[in-house]
Amino acid sequence: MPDDFNITGSCQCRAVRYAVTALAHEVDHCHCSVCRKSHGAMFGTYATVDRAAFRFTDGEDNLSDFEVTPGVTRRFCRTCGCHLVVIPEAMPEIIWYTPATLDGADPGHPRETEKHIHVASQQPWWSFTDDRPKFDGLP
Ligand SMILES: [Zn+2]
Ligand SMILES: [Zn+2]
Repeated sequence: MPDDFNITGSCQCRAVRYAVTALAHEVDHCHCSVCRKSHGAMFGTYATVDRAAFRFTDGEDNLSDFEVTPGVTRRFCRTCGCHLVVIPEAMPEIIWYTPATLDGADPGHPRETEKHIHVASQQPWWSFTDDRPKFDGLP
């Protein structure tokens, strides 16, 4: 990994900003109903990084926490509702952030790790326009 890897992202209203100092291990596009409804989108996209490589640089006190699945905390900007991270209690070494909120940066994940998960829960009228691997649940 390049020593100087440092990318940044922010919420819609820019009250909350973050920095990531490591390449993502993988990227997942999750079609489950929790992700769809949390994002208000056809799927939620997450980059997995070491928790030590992720930090909020501004506005962390403007986040609201929401726990849909026990032990999994979702953090949103309380002003604009932008979904920024998911923190799994059972996996203290990693964090999932939402790379769609990066400001023009690439999460740097190995491209072969990028996949669609929980596609059994996708909206029935969605059609895939890419050839990334698809899993009914988790791989
Ligand atoms: Zn915001
Ligand atoms: Zn999901």
